Amino acid sequence: MEIYDSLKRSKVQFEPIKEGHVGMYVCGPTVYGPSHLGHASTYIAFDIIRRAFEYLGYKVKLVVNITDVHDDMIKQANKEGITIFELADKNIKQYMEDLAELNILPADVFPRVTEHIKEIIQMVEKLVENGYAYETDDGVYFNVAKFEGYGKLSGIKLEEGETGKRVETDKYDKEGVADFALWKKAKPGEPTWPSPWGEGRPGWHIECSVMSSKYLGMPFDIHGGALDLRFPHHENEIAQSEAATGKEFVKYWMHAGILKVDGQKMSKSLGNFINIPEILEKYDPMVLRYWRATVHYRSEINYQESTIEAAKAALGKLRGYVAGWRAAGGVGKVDSKFRSEFVKALEDDFGLPEAVAVLWKVVKSGKMSDADKLATVLDFDRVLGLGLAEFKGDEKQVTKDTKLKIDKLVKERDLARKDKDWNRADEIRGELDKMGVIIEDTDDGSVWSLK
Ligand SMILES: [Zn+2]
Repeated sequence: MEIYDSLKRSKVQFEPIKEGHVGMYVCGPTVYGPSHLGHASTYIAFDIIRRAFEYLGYKVKLVVNITDVHDDMIKQANKEGITIFELADKNIKQYMEDLAELNILPADVFPRVTEHIKEIIQMVEKLVENGYAYETDDGVYFNVAKFEGYGKLSGIKLEEGETGKRVETDKYDKEGVADFALWKKAKPGEPTWPSPWGEGRPGWHIECSVMSSKYLGMPFDIHGGALDLRFPHHENEIAQSEAATGKEFVKYWMHAGILKVDGQKMSKSLGNFINIPEILEKYDPMVLRYWRATVHYRSEINYQESTIEAAKAALGKLRGYVAGWRAAGGVGKVDSKFRSEFVKALEDDFGLPEAVAVLWKVVKSGKMSDADKLATVLDFDRVLGLGLAEFKGDEKQVTKDTKLKIDKLVKERDLARKDKDWNRADEIRGELDKMGVIIEDTDDGSVWSLK
């Protein structure tokens, strides 16, 4: 299979380090507040990628870090008058609930920074020893100019690095402007740990270098994250890991496209900021998954009411078909021709929009039995994770007789609409509504699903 490697900037053949296995690290949340819609989009994208690998027969080990010590954590904890540990516990709970609601499979390991301080100190010591890091009054810094490969991931040049946002907003003095903190010396009101450089806490980037290699070894197969982490975060991860060990850090870099809201950057200042609990109050989480799957993971994804509504309608239709096939009888056989088309789409850098198109070919197929359609669509849903197999509108609610009755009413309503007998059509809609059936009118006639 081929995947797009952000470092090589091209599609390359995927060859796992260990046959049949994939070691994958995805940058996780800083738990100072609930995750937002942009995070949801990235989490879903990588969940689909993880599921796709498993569908293709790989055994995946996924590691997602939890940043529980960070400038933002300290600021928020002080604001709430609680410790960063209390703040982290609260938001990790929320994060896990969000993942479960979004049907995102949990990582094999969710390492927390505060539980890896010892290993972090060891790597910083190694970097000092190797001549890549230096101590100042306020911390230990990575000397970017010393690392030859700096910029290889993001393509950024050192002088451009000087204007890099995070570097600019870092208030510490440094020898070189693009140098970044590995260890920050204690400041009043901050949680600290003892280290060879006195009391302090880790800088932000070092955790991912430490925790990825601890759980996946080095190099490992895939490092993922949202595109906005490519610089400086991922660039710095490479510098730290490779300077500390002299070994290659990661085989393939994968970045998910950035989320926009109505074509604009999502930000609190623009008033278009949406967090996951807010969006889940508005939409079925499976609608968000369907919507995410219709846009390539690398493309920019635009949150717009109209595109979400379109996803909602499509998913409603799909659930309607599934409920109908279910009610009609058992589960048949997965169609091998469509399955190989589906696999082909996945093996081409996780072409989810194409894979979804194959699913609709199955739905619309005039040749397949309902039972085989059901089997095939449920098989594809192992990747999409739309929960079609568990969806409530199942045979428990629709007996065969009820299904026949619903079909009859739907047909009658279609005829009434054809004759422009709107009163009768509405009357039937009302009857169906009482039965818990939602009806949607499409170009191909009406489809129904259960509430
Ligand atoms: Zn990271």
